[in-house]
Order: sequence, then C-alpha cells, then structure tokens
Amino acid sequence: MKFSFKILLCMMTVIALALGFSGYYFVNYVFETSLEREIGQSLDESSILGFALETAALNVPTNYSVLPDNTIDEIAANLEASGQQKRLLRISDERKQTLYVSDGFFADRQLLEETDAKVKSYHIARSGKKHYVHAVTAVNARNRVLYLETMRDVSEVFTERAMGFSLYRRVTLLMLLIGLLLMYVLTSFLTKPIRILTRATKQMAAGDYAYRANQVSQDELGELTMDFNAMAEALERNVGALEHEVEAKEEFMGAFAHELKTPLTAIIGYADTLRSHSMDEEKRMMAANYIYTEGKRLEVMSLRLLDIIVAGNRKVNLQRVAAQVIFDYLKEMFAGRTDVKMQFSFEAGIVCAEPNLIKTVLVNLIDNACKASEQGGGIEVEGRAKEDGYLFSVRDHGIGIPREEQQKIIKAFYMVDKSRARSQNGAGLGLALCAEILKIHDSELIIESEENQGSCFRFLLKDRASHGEPGLDRENGVFGS
Ligand code: ADP
Repeated sequence: MKFSFKILLCMMTVIALALGFSGYYFVNYVFETSLEREIGQSLDESSILGFALETAALNVPTNYSVLPDNTIDEIAANLEASGQQKRLLRISDERKQTLYVSDGFFADRQLLEETDAKVKSYHIARSGKKHYVHAVTAVNARNRVLYLETMRDVSEVFTERAMGFSLYRRVTLLMLLIGLLLMYVLTSFLTKPIRILTRATKQMAAGDYAYRANQVSQDELGELTMDFNAMAEALERNVGALEHEVEAKEEFMGAFAHELKTPLTAIIGYADTLRSHSMDEEKRMMAANYIYTEGKRLEVMSLRLLDIIVAGNRKVNLQRVAAQVIFDYLKEMFAGRTDVKMQFSFEAGIVCAEPNLIKTVLVNLIDNACKASEQGGGIEVEGRAKEDGYLFSVRDHGIGIPREEQQKIIKAFYMVDKSRARSQNGAGLGLALCAEILKIHDSELIIESEENQGSCFRFLLKDRASHGEPGLDRENGVFGS
C-alpha cells in the first residue's frame, strides 16, 4: 500500500473516531439534560397532584373522620381531568391495594412495592416506542396514607435522541467524505518529496548519476532531498573517478602491450635469424647487439614500471632536508654533462620530503630537459624558498611541448615524438613516475611550455613544520624543526 494511502487511512480513522465519540457525547449530553428536566417536571407534577389530593380530601364533609374509598374515585377522576391532556394516575391505599387506576396506566407494581410513606421515587417505564416517567409519592389524606402514582410521557426526549444520532451519523459521513478529499490533496502534497526522491533513486539505479531530486520543502523531507543530492553528487564523482581509472588502466594496458610488442618483435626476429641462418661474424654481432639493446630497453621499462607501482602504493616517509643537500647531489650527478649548459641556483631552505624520491623526480626532469635541448643549450635548475614550502623548477630552451600535449605527457608510455624518444632510450614512463611521487607528497607537476621555445617544469613541496617531523641529523644533512 502506498505511503500516502496509509497516512490517509490513519487520518480518516482518527477523524472518524473523533467525530463518532464527540457526536455520541454531545447527543447523549443533550438527551440526559432533557430527560433530567422531564423527570424534575414529573416529580413536581406528582407533588402538585399530591397536594391537590390532600386538599380535596380536606374538603370532603366532616362527618367522616377517615376518607372513604368511594370519595377517592371521585377526587382521582377530577385530578385525572385537571390537566390539558388526560393524566395517567393510580391511587393505592396503605396496604398498596389499588383504589383507582386511569385507563392506559400500565406501570407495574414493583416501584410502588419498593416505595415507603416517606420517600418519593421514580423510574422510566417503557411500552413499545413510548417512554414514561413513572413517579410514586405518598399523600396524607385525612388520617390515611395513600400512594399516588403518575405517568408522564417523555417519548419526545427519546425520539429527539434517536434523531440526534441519525443526524450526527449523516453529518459524520459528510464530514468524512469532505475530509477524505481534503486529506487526499494534503497527503499527496506532503508526500511529493518522497515521490520525487523515489523517481530520483530509480533514475540513478538506471545509471543516470547526473539526475538530481528537486527540493520542494524546507522540512525534514527537504533535508533528506538535500542529503540525497549530496550523496548522488559523491556517487557521481566516485563513479566518474572509477570510470576514469578504468579508462586510464585500459589505456595503460594498451600502451604497455604496444611498448612491449616493438622490442619483443625485434628480439624474436633477430633470435630467429640467428638460430636458422648461418651468417658471418659481423652480421651475427649486429643481431646479438639488437637483441641486447632491445632487451635492455625492456629491462629499463620493467624497472620503471615497478618504480611507478611501488611509488603509487607506498606511504611517504617525510623528512626535513636542507635544499643544499639535494642541489649538491644534482650538481655531482650531472657534473659530467658537457653537451648542455646546466646552471643550478637555489635559496637556502628546508625541503619537507622523502629525499631519495625527490632526487628521482629532479633527475628525471633534468634528464628530459637535456633530451629536449640542442647541443650546448641552457638548462636552469632552481630552488626557491616560499612562504608555504619549497619550489623547484627545471627550465630548458629546447623543442618545447605543443599545448594540446602538455597534459598528456604525464601519462605512462606517452611520448610526443615516439621515434625521437625511443632513439633517446625513452619509454614515456619518467614523468608518470614523477607524477606518482609528487602525488604521495601532496604536490603536482606544473608544466609551462612553448613549442620551439622551451619548457619549465615546477613543483612545490609544502612545509609540514607544524606536523612535528624528526629532529636534525647533520651527518646526512637532514634537518629537523
Ligand atoms: P621519456 O622521457 O622516457 O620518453 P617521460 O615520461 O619522461 O618519458 O616524457 C614523456 C614525453 O614528454 C617525452 O617523450 C617527451 O616527448 C615529452 N617531454 C618531457 N619532458 C620534455 C621537455 N623538457 N621538453 C619537451 N618534451 C618533453
């Protein structure tokens, strides 16, 4: 059953119960008040008739000291006819023997038997659809105790109660019908956010992660819609990232297979020639040399790949290193290169990083700069202390990188000019390794390049002094805060 119908059903039950109880209480209250009034009037009438009986008894001639039974008939007949309508009464003597009874008086004798000379009593007597107040009162008439019983018709009060109930039933039904319509409109308005959310979940289940639920209220359901949208956003982001990752992996696998294929084809081809043809020493040497070089290329590639995988999966062991230590290492490393003019300039400062990894990044960047430069081209390696960390940059004035390629070159196996890269022993993995290393240092490569003008690769290593790193280790040139 739909939630809105459940609410509707609950509300209608509550309204029906409320109307039913209040109606019953109201009609009954009116009935009881009217009945009490009628009973009061019956008892008053019974008292008045009692007085009239006493007075009439006193007016009987005085030669009787006791009221004779035959005069009682006369008095009773007068009392019976004294009202606007014929009264119903019964007069009994001291022993509760009936002396007079009106036609149509039907009340039984139980009340009379229970009543003594000092009290008045009454009850409601019923005959078919008619209801009467049956009252008994004792009268002192000329040295005799007589019992006067009266019956007053109160059927109207009962009829009014039945009419009240029937009217109230109809009003309740009408109210329920109107209530049903109003509640239907209200519940569908109140449950609108739920319907919107249901539609949104279905859309998302069908793969439409960009679908968002429209927030139509500011209440708890509105909040739920907002939370749902936030969740959808996170989900869309995560799915996007996963798709991107899968795409990147597929791309990587494709490139990897392709990069494997070239050296393997050469190796297999030359190995086959060697084993199936007899050839002179020079040709044999050439084939063996090809196999060796391509095998070496494969080895370098597999080691680089391993480095990337390891870098991506490890936790960085941050240390506070003097920038000078890194620059001293680089100077020593590239001291023998005479094909380019390399300049190192740096500001004293502390680098917060894992030194060996950062050295790997810088060596790769400098290596790339050398490959991109002409004979004798200038390369500037700089280090600048910044407010929030230490900034490294490697600038060359070589071939540069076309704008549309600049974001692609950090992908594994991507080479702008494949034949040039291969001839320089490149496999398109150096920058991918740099990117992985910088990622675990919470940093990234910023590439600025102009075709035929040169390139500049920069990265900032944030200062983590506040995190409390290890102390000074002067022997290794490693400093602490
Ligand atoms: P590799 O150098 O082994 O080919 P990298 O990942 O280091 O692989 O570089 C990817 C590609 O980016 C290179 O093949 C080259 O085309 C381009 N590249 C990298 N650095 C530079 C640079 N300083 N100037 C011009 N091109 C560059």
